[in-house]
Amino acid sequence: MTSIRLRGKGVSPGIGMGELTLSESALFTVRRESISAAAVEGELRRLRKAVERTRNELVRLKQEMKGNMGEEHAFIFDAHLLILGDRSLFDSIEQTVRGEKVRAEWALTQVNQKYQELFDAIADEYFRQRKSDVSDVLARIAANLKLKKKRRTRKGQAKREVLVAHEILPSEAAIRLSGGNVLAVATDMGGPTSHTAILARSLNIPAVVGLHNITQQVKNGDFIIVDGTDGEVIINPPPAVRKEFLGKKAKYDHYIRELKKTARLKSVTLDDVRFFALANIELPDEVEMAFSYGAEGIGLFRSEFIYLQSASLPNEEDHLAAYSRIAKAAYPAPVYIRTIDIGGDKTLPQLKIEKEPNPALGLRAVRFSLRHKDLFRVQLRAILRASALKNVRILIPMITEVEEIGEVKLLLEEAKKELDKERVKFDRQIPFGVMIEVPAAAAITDILVKEVDYLSIGTNDLIQYYLAVDRSNEFVSYLYKPLHPSVLRVIRFIIQTALREGKDVAVCGEMAADPLSALVLLGFGLRKFSMNPIFIPRIKNTLRSVELKTVEKVVEEAMNLKTAQDVEELVIERILAKHPKAFLLGQVM
Ligand code: PEP
Ligand code: MG
Repeated sequence: MTSIRLRGKGVSPGIGMGELTLSESALFTVRRESISAAAVEGELRRLRKAVERTRNELVRLKQEMKGNMGEEHAFIFDAHLLILGDRSLFDSIEQTVRGEKVRAEWALTQVNQKYQELFDAIADEYFRQRKSDVSDVLARIAANLKLKKKRRTRKGQAKREVLVAHEILPSEAAIRLSGGNVLAVATDMGGPTSHTAILARSLNIPAVVGLHNITQQVKNGDFIIVDGTDGEVIINPPPAVRKEFLGKKAKYDHYIRELKKTARLKSVTLDDVRFFALANIELPDEVEMAFSYGAEGIGLFRSEFIYLQSASLPNEEDHLAAYSRIAKAAYPAPVYIRTIDIGGDKTLPQLKIEKEPNPALGLRAVRFSLRHKDLFRVQLRAILRASALKNVRILIPMITEVEEIGEVKLLLEEAKKELDKERVKFDRQIPFGVMIEVPAAAAITDILVKEVDYLSIGTNDLIQYYLAVDRSNEFVSYLYKPLHPSVLRVIRFIIQTALREGKDVAVCGEMAADPLSALVLLGFGLRKFSMNPIFIPRIKNTLRSVELKTVEKVVEEAMNLKTAQDVEELVIERILAKHPKAFLLGQVM
């Protein structure tokens, strides 16, 4: 048997191995079939019945999933029920049946294709991935158009296996991955923000996606190793390779046990200075996973995702459902809900947004919200309504000038008045803060901070704008340096200015997840670090291994250096000399 090695994108770390099962979903291989004009009404009735069957099925699956796995994994079915209720989607299907006089199956494939193209045109990876939810729902309707009932598999029969598929549709992922029998996942398609990837991470199932054609290179029963940490897949490995990966797996599993121990430890430095590890999340589903990694709150909820749960614009209830779910799950820990950061390159299919010549400098985030006030009001009302438990906070992205804060506050006050009139409960004192991501805002931190309760530094954007280096352009990535002396000066200024005013300040960009940078930030006075939850244990480990006094001295010395490399070398050398365990977990990842 020949052994094959393939490279993809590791989206859920760890190593899984075993016999593989190919999951085939050939739901969209139907041919065009015409019908007579007289048969159109009958065909539409058949379609509506299938939609009804699909609705009942989704409600049942949601209940089953809730029972087996808890509320968080049932959420996917809420999203699908929302899509199923979307009028414009179904108008398109019915119009296709009517206009082209074709079978409903063909209309479903046509509309699916149209939506896939719309989604493909979206530059943002995360948004693009949501197209599989629409496919998922349409595929389910297609299956329900067949009169024969699908046999339901009985629980407990499945063997432990590695799942290999072209693409795992979200609801299929929710059902199959949560059954406890899947050792690992490998797919042709997909990206790190697909539901499959998110679910795999939260269930600790190693996964590699984007393998292009693995489904054409394997057959049922082949032995497969999936290395989700390195993004590698090996089909039918020779015994020596199998042994090597068994060793790697044991090491990784040990590492995870150590990480999880760290996750539960208190966030204090060696000299007992308290810091806070918070989580950045993009889906309500991620909240429990974040806490299992030791998060002490949700430091950043990127609320853009809500726009993808429905093919039409989300309404206040859609927003509210997501925010309440997170607020309840996190309670009493705080949840910072960032208002949408769309516009620029993150366009939405539901809105006709004009193409901009320079999207990164365009109508993005709060600029977009202040241009589309009707959408913004809906979001602000929902955030207020979700704040009744008093653990919700507002965060406004991409503030450039103080006038924007005034405008947002005015809208917020109007929303509060409306809710008062409607006798709806909310947190009257809801804390209000802004992100510092634009250099101009950084330079007037002293002015802005007086207008708000706290600041959150979005280093991903702040560094890109400060150094004039596109954060996603590989040609200039060599210049993207969080430890560049200019970046350090501006970040120190923001942190120290906020603290002098007695205001809270956090960092919620990737910089907070890097052990070396986190030490520098600690030295500047930062105590709130918000990051992708999987990095929380290693940052906790680093900060728990050091004395603040030492770090402050090292960082002070580093501020006199000329280059990022000098800073890096000095901090590593000095910290390791005093605290040899500081980068223990950081080096393994
Ligand atoms: C940032 O810019 O650092 C940030 C946290 O926001 P986003 O990555 O969503 O732009
Ligand atoms: Mg940003």
